[in-house]
Amino acid sequence: MTEPAPASDDAVGSALAGARNVPLWLDAAGRPAPRPALVGDLTVDLAVVGGGLTGLWAALLAAEAEPGRRVVLLEGASLGWAASGRNGGFCSSSLTHGLANGMARWPGEMPALQRMGAENLDAIEDTIARHGIDCGFRRSGELIVAVQPWQVDDLAEVAEATRGLGEPAELLSAEETRAVVDSPTYLGGLREPHGTALVDPARLVWGLAAAAMAAGVEIHEGTRVTAVRDEGDRVRLLTPSGTVLARRAVLGTSAFPSPLRRLRPFVVPVWDHVLATEPLTAEQRASLGWKGGEGVADAGNQFHYYRLTDDDRLVWGGYDALYYFGSDLGARRARRPVTERMLAEHLFATFPQLAGVRISHAWAGAIDTCSRFTAFWGRGLGGKVAAVQGFTGLGVGASRFGALVALDLVDGRETERTRLRMVRTKPVPFPPEPLRWAGIEVTRRSLARADEAGGRRNLWLRTLDRLGMGFDS
Ligand SMILES: Cc1cc2nc3c(=O)[nH]c(=O)nc-3n(C[C@H](O)[C@H](O)[C@H](O)COP(=O)(O)OP(=O)(O)OC[C@H]3O[C@@H](n4cnc5c(N)ncnc54)[C@H](O)[C@@H]3O)c2cc1C
Repeated sequence: MTEPAPASDDAVGSALAGARNVPLWLDAAGRPAPRPALVGDLTVDLAVVGGGLTGLWAALLAAEAEPGRRVVLLEGASLGWAASGRNGGFCSSSLTHGLANGMARWPGEMPALQRMGAENLDAIEDTIARHGIDCGFRRSGELIVAVQPWQVDDLAEVAEATRGLGEPAELLSAEETRAVVDSPTYLGGLREPHGTALVDPARLVWGLAAAAMAAGVEIHEGTRVTAVRDEGDRVRLLTPSGTVLARRAVLGTSAFPSPLRRLRPFVVPVWDHVLATEPLTAEQRASLGWKGGEGVADAGNQFHYYRLTDDDRLVWGGYDALYYFGSDLGARRARRPVTERMLAEHLFATFPQLAGVRISHAWAGAIDTCSRFTAFWGRGLGGKVAAVQGFTGLGVGASRFGALVALDLVDGRETERTRLRMVRTKPVPFPPEPLRWAGIEVTRRSLARADEAGGRRNLWLRTLDRLGMGFDS
């Protein structure tokens, strides 16, 4: 970034001192007591594996569509402890990780994908209202900001493509952007008034779990599925404390190794870090402008995303998407002082008026990155099992759509959704180690260099573009 000089090391160090290494959203008094683990053997119509947003949507949608269908959800740890409770809470209508990615891959399908995405976001809002889920859902819109001259041109292109699909997008000058949110680093902006809501993701998880249970879903936490076996017209899910015999199963296991082994090469876990400040004072809050409370992201390859919370904290994440050799998912990766410091420096460089504000929370989570940046679906065991994963950092909203498609597939329904090329095709798989790590490192470095070189992509990135592959968060 070419912003004004960052706050001094000492100031950043003291802002970070005492930050809790817990996701802000999970550090809440309203966190429900865990549901008991499975003990013994169960027979059900549908088993759902994974207690994040994907699994919860699958369970709730299945139970609501067919009351009386016996549905069980098995979560290996606790509901929402992984990506679903660690994200930025941007609930986007995009099913394609943004318009540009969708246009590059499925230009012909984009009108349908955009419409289905808008319907999906409406349906999320409707479900939240219908079940009285108190998760701060707010149609905030999004402001994408240019912090490098080349990004101003990129935003103009995105604005044109967005309008080409009949959707509103307002291109803003530097002054107009700063009148919306006041940062000296902004060179321009693009305001998309529809298509993004902000949400407290953990409260959404807990609310969906309560709604699912009210609809008859049985939930077991602390119950890791170790294998799924074919038993003729059913499947048996094995766990350390019991088994589940199910007619059908849906897997929403995200960045974790899929029980369907052949899906594993399609996803790598990418660690993304987030900071949250203490609640801002009225004066600090006013110094930002930001009256519309939009979700904000900058337009680089390595990008920050940030937003305000109901209690006026600033949540600030992104930029340094990290992959560790061997697809490491170890808990120790959730803390990385060098990244936390860099994020805090960027925060204070973007908003120098917040000098002296303390960071209350610093955390990280694993994103299920695939090489095309959108969900993909897989089937196994004679079609009795369907899996969805690969949301690549934009799954808060898309997880509901992903779950709907997985239910279509596992129930043998042919729908407009299942006819999509996005649904019928898979991303290019990642190679095994050590090529995987080396390839991702070269790509990360190339993306960082492109950000520094006016957005120009080197030969490596251009080759990946031609192969329909990439690395993102
Ligand atoms: C730091 C960060 C910021 C993000 N920001 C945004 C954002 O602002 N907007 C956005 O749209 N997206 C964002 N994302 C992505 C988004 O959080 C996810 O796409 C979304 O939550 C999808 O959740 P999921 O249910 O598929 O995965 P998860 O929430 O990871 O849930 C998967 C669950 O499956 C369980 N599981 C795995 N294997 C097994 C097994 N064998 N048996 C039982 N259980 C198992 C895990 O324990 C886990 O709870 C972000 C992600 C991260 C990490």
